[in-house]
Amino acid sequence: MASLIVRPRARVFHGHDWVHDNEVLKVTGQPKDGDVIGLKDQRDRFLGSAIYNSRSKIPARRFSRQRQDLDADFFLRRLRMASEYRDRLGLDPSARREVWSESDGLPGLILDRYGDCVVLQTLTLAMDLRKDIIADAVREVLAPRCLLERNDGPVRKAEGLELHTGILRGEAPGAFEVALGGVRFGIELPGGQKTGLYLDQAGNYALVAAHAKGRRVLDCFSNQGGFALACALAGATEVTALDISADACAAINANAKRNGVTLKVEEANVFDWLKAAVGRGDRYDLVILDPPSFTRDRARLNDALRGYKEIHLRAASLLEPGGLLATFCCSHHVSDPIFLDTILDAMIDAKRTARLRARYSQRADHPVVLGLPESAYLKGFLLEMAPGR
Ligand code: SAH
Repeated sequence: MASLIVRPRARVFHGHDWVHDNEVLKVTGQPKDGDVIGLKDQRDRFLGSAIYNSRSKIPARRFSRQRQDLDADFFLRRLRMASEYRDRLGLDPSARREVWSESDGLPGLILDRYGDCVVLQTLTLAMDLRKDIIADAVREVLAPRCLLERNDGPVRKAEGLELHTGILRGEAPGAFEVALGGVRFGIELPGGQKTGLYLDQAGNYALVAAHAKGRRVLDCFSNQGGFALACALAGATEVTALDISADACAAINANAKRNGVTLKVEEANVFDWLKAAVGRGDRYDLVILDPPSFTRDRARLNDALRGYKEIHLRAASLLEPGGLLATFCCSHHVSDPIFLDTILDAMIDAKRTARLRARYSQRADHPVVLGLPESAYLKGFLLEMAPGR
């Protein structure tokens, strides 16, 4: 087995499973990109088995502390463990993430299940090269009617992989419906942003909607309408949903019909729309902010924070005293304290005092691994505009 010798003080010695390019001391045995290699420390002690890609900024990702091949048995075992974990937590199999990369010991492999269809993403070269064995394991463990590949995420380029989508096994399912926590969504595969729904947020729809009864709700960055629909079903007096994408707006409208609720759907840039709404003197009792990650890298963090601050400032200006702001951030570069500081900055400019009512996180089918801070990426807060201040 080829080996990679890791520099002292590398992150693998602190609970992480990645080896960055500047943490590589030496590679021996001439591994090919996509091969399994052994990780070792300077004294030749074995640290585990990893997948290798010299073209990546993360040339090695450990997937086992033992000597382990990526063979059919291995994928079967890991898939079963991942699926059983979600069963144990009571996550509805009709729409859930079955495998989430490092968090399930399969770096770069993502499997989402919608009804009896499975959507696969392979974001590392090693997983991409083994799509066939993975497809066999998926058939055995999940037995889907259709297995699709949705490999059009730009992160693949970091591994030197091409972008493509298509059907790996079975036939195109056509349009169908899934229910998530009492809300019905249309699914079209392949299609939709990401791999369909934002399953990481699915647990939060009901938590936020629990505050919607009798309130005027504004759902910014609505995508398929998850928050807006849950709020309307929970008895909001009116719900407005905003998204910049025409496709997303069409999906929200279709989903509103499907659930028998009325939403006001506007195709708009949230930044411009909020500014205009403040100018008009619009008023809401619950505003939801769930933007895409404004930054994929640390270098542009400050620009991203300016963006976060602006939407919080405007949202606060639309809220009545006692009004609620449910706000989310899905960038792992923005930590909880940085995000809260940015929100506080916005509240100061808006001359509002905010109370922290609740904290939100990603749903349990996206498990957080303690040594991998990157796995804890979604954070959310429910803030109440203190009345009388
Ligand atoms: N809240 C959604 C997920 C939001 S994903 C859910 O729980 O399912 C982010 C969404 O923001 C995408 O649908 C994208 O089209 C939209 N978006 C991105 N930039 C935007 C902008 N400037 N204005 C409005 N929508 C935007």
